[in-house]
Amino acid sequence: MNFELNHHQKMIRDMARSFAQNEVKPLATRVDREHHFPVELLPHMAELGFMGMFIPEEWGGSGGDVVSYIVALEEISAACATTGVVMSVNNSLVSDPILKFGTDEQKDKWLKPLASGEKLGCFCLSEPGTGSDAANQATKAERKGDVYILNGTKNWITNGPFADTALIFAMSEPEKGVKGITAFLVDAHRTPGYSVGAIEDKLGICGSATCQIILENAEVPAANVLGEENGGFKVAMSTLDGGRIGIAAQAVGIARAAYEAAREYSKERTAFGGPISQFQAIQFYLADMATRIDAARLMTLRAAHRKDHRRPYGTEAAMAKVFASETANWVATKAVQVHGGNGYSREYPVERHFRDAKITEIYEGTSEIQRVVIARSVLQD
Ligand SMILES: Cc1cc2nc3c(=O)[nH]c(=O)nc-3n(C[C@H](O)[C@H](O)[C@H](O)COP(=O)(O)OP(=O)(O)OC[C@H]3O[C@@H](n4cnc5c(N)ncnc54)[C@H](O)[C@@H]3O)c2cc1C
Repeated sequence: MNFELNHHQKMIRDMARSFAQNEVKPLATRVDREHHFPVELLPHMAELGFMGMFIPEEWGGSGGDVVSYIVALEEISAACATTGVVMSVNNSLVSDPILKFGTDEQKDKWLKPLASGEKLGCFCLSEPGTGSDAANQATKAERKGDVYILNGTKNWITNGPFADTALIFAMSEPEKGVKGITAFLVDAHRTPGYSVGAIEDKLGICGSATCQIILENAEVPAANVLGEENGGFKVAMSTLDGGRIGIAAQAVGIARAAYEAAREYSKERTAFGGPISQFQAIQFYLADMATRIDAARLMTLRAAHRKDHRRPYGTEAAMAKVFASETANWVATKAVQVHGGNGYSREYPVERHFRDAKITEIYEGTSEIQRVVIARSVLQD
């Protein structure tokens, strides 16, 4: 057992940290306040290889491993959780399933531009009527010769208004239920009937441009089916298993940013004749923050390491996600507390971390759904 990152992983971490601190962090307040999608960061992120980190070079990626991706994602998310999720959707939720389920033609056409960062992807599973119960799709895909006609509305789509490629799930044979869902690769710019709805006004990750995607007789070639026809639910669930490791890393990043802000504040703020860090109550908050973050990071790295080594990782990913997201919320709450009244002010970044942390308990499977996944696994043992 080796708890050290290797030389290459450390290099990626340092590069990501430097980019995050110098370019991402200075933009984070604007991204949050103005609900600004960080579009100006994407060319440099692409250049640094951050948009397809564990995709092989032959398919446009940087050919790294999942551990390097996780380490970089923590750094980016610590600086700006919005930028973290933009990156994680492109890597985990769109590029990864094309790598796993795509044909060589599909990888050439769709994966190369996504993994190189030339194009941006979005993942369209949720609907107004369904999120956790993802098999209950109302969007329909009706086959007509060589094309499918898609009709329906997708909800909460991260990156939606800026995406070039959408991975869309729809019911192709409703009578088959979960075995009647198909995944489609859709060109967001050249598909009549595909349109972007209003952007959601959210509590946190305010710049991530979450919107509805509306499909009105959208014609999609049958050649764009990803994986098997009626095999879309498997594509979705396998993708989310990997995506959860990314959200765990995002949560660790948010937690770390909140903890570091609290630690520094506690050394500067004085009360009763000295810094508040002299009080054992504050010291214990900081000690618990550091301990929980360390545990969350180790769990996240373990899940990533298993994915790299092609070992089953679904349960470990769910455990990492539920623990890291609850850690982010606990740490951010205590970080606000350490700041006292200033923690409640928008002048200090902890209130942003506090709002951003919440989403990690909701998307890519709520904490309740992670526990359903974990319980299913432990009861099988
Ligand atoms: C900011 C944001 C970005 C998002 N980005 C995307 C995206 O890019 N693509 C995409 O497809 N989706 C996206 N989502 C959707 C997200 O994945 C869903 O919101 C999430 O899965 C929960 O679904 P729901 O909102 O329908 O809640 P519901 O499923 O209605 O759940 C409501 C409550 O009931 C609980 N619950 C439901 N079923 C069970 C059960 N079996 N056991 C115990 N408790 C249960 C839930 O845990 C939750 O507490 C995003 C959501 C948000 C808020």
